[in-house]
Amino acid sequence: MSEIREFKTESKRLLELMINSIYTNKEIFLRELISNASDAIDKYHYLSLTDDKLDRSREYEINISIDKDSRTLSIKDNGIGMTKEELIDSLGTIAKSGSLEFMEKMKDAEASEQSKLEIIGQFGVGFYSAYMVASKVEVTTKSPYSDKAYRFTSNGTDSYEIEELEPTFEGSEVKLYLRKDEGEENEYDRYLDQYEISDLVKKYSDYIRYPIKMEFEVEKQKKDEEGNNIENEYEKVLEVRTLNSMTPIWKKKKNEVTDEELNNFYKQKYYDYQDPLANIFINIEGALNYTALIFIPKKAPYDLYSDKYEKGLQLYSKGVFIMDKCKDLVPDYLRFIRGLVDSNDLSLNISRELLQQSKELADISKNVEKKIVSKLESMLKNERELYKEFFNNYGINIKYGIYDKYGLKKDLLKDLILYHTVNQEDYVTLKEYVESMKEGQEFIYYASGKTKEAILALPQMDLIKKQGYDVLVLTDEVDEFMINVMQEYEGKKFKSINQGDLNLISDEDKEKIKQQSEDKKSLLEKLKEILADDVKDVVLSERLETSPVCLVSEDGLSFEMEKVISQMPNSKDIKATRILEINPKHKLFEAIENLYNDNDPMLETYAKLLYDQALLIEGIAIKDPVAFSNMMCELMVKQAKY
Ligand code: ADP
Repeated sequence: MSEIREFKTESKRLLELMINSIYTNKEIFLRELISNASDAIDKYHYLSLTDDKLDRSREYEINISIDKDSRTLSIKDNGIGMTKEELIDSLGTIAKSGSLEFMEKMKDAEASEQSKLEIIGQFGVGFYSAYMVASKVEVTTKSPYSDKAYRFTSNGTDSYEIEELEPTFEGSEVKLYLRKDEGEENEYDRYLDQYEISDLVKKYSDYIRYPIKMEFEVEKQKKDEEGNNIENEYEKVLEVRTLNSMTPIWKKKKNEVTDEELNNFYKQKYYDYQDPLANIFINIEGALNYTALIFIPKKAPYDLYSDKYEKGLQLYSKGVFIMDKCKDLVPDYLRFIRGLVDSNDLSLNISRELLQQSKELADISKNVEKKIVSKLESMLKNERELYKEFFNNYGINIKYGIYDKYGLKKDLLKDLILYHTVNQEDYVTLKEYVESMKEGQEFIYYASGKTKEAILALPQMDLIKKQGYDVLVLTDEVDEFMINVMQEYEGKKFKSINQGDLNLISDEDKEKIKQQSEDKKSLLEKLKEILADDVKDVVLSERLETSPVCLVSEDGLSFEMEKVISQMPNSKDIKATRILEINPKHKLFEAIENLYNDNDPMLETYAKLLYDQALLIEGIAIKDPVAFSNMMCELMVKQAKY
């Protein structure tokens, strides 16, 4: 007894798209069918708890078999099966939420046909994905709530056929008649290869809770009557193998998993030969349900900073693999982490686009980020050496994390940064810096330079050194940008040793310099006039002790930032505002004053040389090295006494 029925319209449309999905990831059909089988077993099991008619001791399994002659691949389960009505309802129409949502999306989307195909290709929509690889599908099924078995057969065009059969088993068997390879070699034939199928099961369905079994034909050495191997004699025997490992390590209880197990899992899964620097096992139950395993590799991946590097965590839904690099789960500054998230709250049948808008995913992502940050905080507190190793590898990423998005994450991350300082051998945090600030110290001082030594030698350090204030040593390009975004820490403002009022001298001394500046106004004006193309102002310095000059910048763009920006492609010629400071206590100032009073034309040479020297000290290239050298020669000749 059989009947032919028409597919509902929306199913037809989906089928059409599915069949024409010639572009992408067809192999996911297997994952979809295995997930359906697993769901059917779940349902049976659940019902068996309350329904005596069902077999409570059933040994659940999913069987895969291949028949090369008829080019078929079958996935069989001993789950709940379907009654005739259910069969028509489930496979003859698309009524399920995931699929329906998907269809809505497809309807609204002004997406091109190609991108629609990609959505399906990558995520599939359950049962129908079988038609990506099969030209005909037969589903034979028997529900415990029906006396008969039924077979659904369709080539996925307009109609399907339902046949009534005498039952031979309980559950469902989905048999795919694979398409023939036409264009691409091995496009469909690969699904007739046991090893290929076994790899796909491992890849996508390794953590399905029920055994997925397949019979393998293997060659074994023959045995004699006593059970000893007979040399050089082999026979073919059938061996049933379970393809999946079933219990994922992250599904175990946290206290049941050792660090060694986690490390081994990491090494095997991510092909690293070293243990990770740290692992984080997250298990959240409540409004949000998920498990995550996060690893920080010991060494940053070699291509971490290249455009090709893809950040992301693997995404599973109830143990079923969905996606390899889900980038929405990882903020950019943590791009180096590896690991996975498994959630019960995510629908499997969901396209990448829908996934991106999923609130659950956004919540998980936020939560994972917080957990990682708090793990890092606890490492910093309790395992300082390890944290230093982490920071040496990845600190720069965290710095970018602070700078990125106009400082959105600065409060979350500011305590994770380690600094070298001029007074201390070891790294300090901002908290530690502030705690050891001297009495009367108003600012958190910082200086940029190549090394601590170079910074210590800077003239701007004269008075700071005398006061014994510590100074953060900034050597990474991003440092000053990060500090600019932070602006302050615990109410203390950051201050570059190169910038305006450093508050290093007493009010009395300040007044004195102010008076002096008034007295020497015309000289300073003259110098400013000579250097008008280069500096905004020439002033007497409050910060110099023994050095003759230094160059400082106004608040805002600093010299270091100027250097970084000028190296960027298509950068505009942006310059920090330069102010030349002269030390009124230095002998050189006296010399200049004399030249000025004598109206000596050498004043111009002196002014220019002073400016060039200040540039050199700052590590900024001088505009005209030849002119500089000529001026030096002129002075040397004058000075030479022979
Ligand atoms: P989804 O799995 O998202 O519901 P599918 O198209 O994969 O969508 O399947 C539609 C329905 O068909 C399922 O909800 C289920 O009721 C039924 N079904 C599919 N495969 C099986 C199976 N192996 N055993 C029992 N029912 C099944």
